[in-house]
This record gives sequence, structure tokens and C-alpha cells, in this order.
Amino acid sequence: MHRVDSYQLNNVSYSYGTTSALEDFTLSLSAGKFYGIVGPNGCGKSTFLDLLVGSKEPESGTLLFNGQPLTTYKKRDLARQVALVPQNFNIGFDYSVEEVVLMGRHPYIHRFASPSLKDWQRVQDAMDLIGIAHFAKRSIMELSGGEKQRVVVARALAQDTPILLFDEATSNLDIQYTLQIFDKVRALVEKEGRTIIAVIHNLNFAAAYCDEIIFMKEGRVCKTGTVAEVMNAPAIAEVFGVEAEIRFDSFSQVNQVSYRYGGQLE
Ligand code: ADP
Repeated sequence: MHRVDSYQLNNVSYSYGTTSALEDFTLSLSAGKFYGIVGPNGCGKSTFLDLLVGSKEPESGTLLFNGQPLTTYKKRDLARQVALVPQNFNIGFDYSVEEVVLMGRHPYIHRFASPSLKDWQRVQDAMDLIGIAHFAKRSIMELSGGEKQRVVVARALAQDTPILLFDEATSNLDIQYTLQIFDKVRALVEKEGRTIIAVIHNLNFAAAYCDEIIFMKEGRVCKTGTVAEVMNAPAIAEVFGVEAEIRFDSFSQVNQVSYRYGGQLE
């Protein structure tokens, strides 16, 4: 995979009718890093990811992907570059798990053509990596929320893109699977130089796994930088209105956040 993937957003705005979701949003993202997007509910995180994957277009401002306006890319070409693991995943049809993962191969399979051996191999590899191959033939409709979430992660991996976007992709997972997904995704950054842009609510996971944090508030970038630079008590107080302390944790060997329970800032 080539490694020139980068985004440049300048004064991007987006609104839903009269509700502004992003306003004057300016940010650059470069290849080979794990970015964590952190911010309160409703601050525009999902909208931001939708813009990066090309399913929404900026109302104003510019969004460049590898130096070209993202809107100039053909859908199929962009889908070979960027995959999204959405927050909500509803398939109202009785597909098997492997059929859902195969959907990740759509940018490579021509209309009316059948999947190639390579396509099936990628599906198998993605299911093996996430550890879901043993339920490949089961119906997606009979799976638990957490199992479905792992299937959707495998679907995005089968898409075989240098950039992966995660919208709270571990919210239904128990701690074992949460750590598994984060570990595998981190390895994709380390070993393959892929770029990960993930909405993460749990600040300790963000601090443990990300290279850079993008704090968002009310549709804007509030602070951005490395975990060491921006994950601190004033930033958490400003963005979430929560009193926190950040300390190096000797067991996990990273900085971790603790909260003051029962006495939050107003
Ligand atoms: P987040 O992912 O940070 O929770 P979103 O990007 O989903 O935030 O939403 C940003 C803002 O846009 C919120 O105020 C939300 O209510 C609004 N919004 C999101 N989707 C829609 C929609 N389909 N129609 C109207 N308003 C929306």
C-alpha cells in the first residue's frame, strides 16, 4: 500500500437544516498515525467521519484528500482508500456473517462479476484476524450487538484500505474484545503504516493507544496534539466539564485518567 494518504480540512462547515454540526473546522491528518477523536455527544464527531469517507460533502470550506478535493474522487476509488466502521449497523436482511464481510470487497468487484479467490481470501483473513471465522455461516440477524460489531470491523478490514475510520467501534464489546480490537488496530499502524481515525469515548483507551488526540467541542477543533501534549486536566475540564487527573500508570506503562466522582464541575 502506498503511504501518501493525508487529509487537509480548511474552514469546513456542515449543518443539518438549521442545526450546525461542524463550523470552521480546520485540521490536517497525516499517514501512519492513530488519531483519537474525543468530545461530548453531539459535537460533530460522526459528521466529521462522514465527510472523511465521502458520504457527506462540506457546505463550505475545503476538504482535500492527497491534495485534491475529496469530491473529485470516484466513489469506488475512495472506497479503496478509506473504510468506515459505523456506530450503528443495521442490516434488515438475513445475510450470513461471511456475506457481510464480503461487502467490504465491493470496491474491487465489478458489477455482475463474482467475487474472486482473492476476495474470499481477504474475507477469510479479516475474519481470522478478528476471531469470528467460527461463526462465518451464522445469520447476522441472530448475533449479539458485540458480535455484530466485530463483524463490521472485519468488513472494514476486508476492504483493505490504508485509512480506517472507527465511530465508537468498541462500544458494545466486553473488555477482552475491546483490547483485542485496539491491539490489532494499533498493530496495523505499527506494522503496515496504516492510518486510523477513531472516535473514542473512553479517555484511558485514547491515552493508551493513540498517537494524537483531536479534542472537539461544539463542531470545532478545540485542541489537537500528541497524548502528552493535550491529554491533561484543563483540556478535559474545558471539553467535558469534568474534574480529572492524569498520572503515569506503572502497570499499564501509559498515562491514565482518573475522575473525581460525585463532585463534577458545573
Ligand atoms: P457526535 O458524533 O459528536 O455525537 P454528530 O455528528 O452525530 O455528533 O451530530 C452533530 C450535531 O448534528 C448534533 O447536534 C446532532 O443532533 C445533529 N445531527 C446529527 N445528525 C443529524 C440529522 N440526521 N438530522 C439533524 N440533525 C442531526
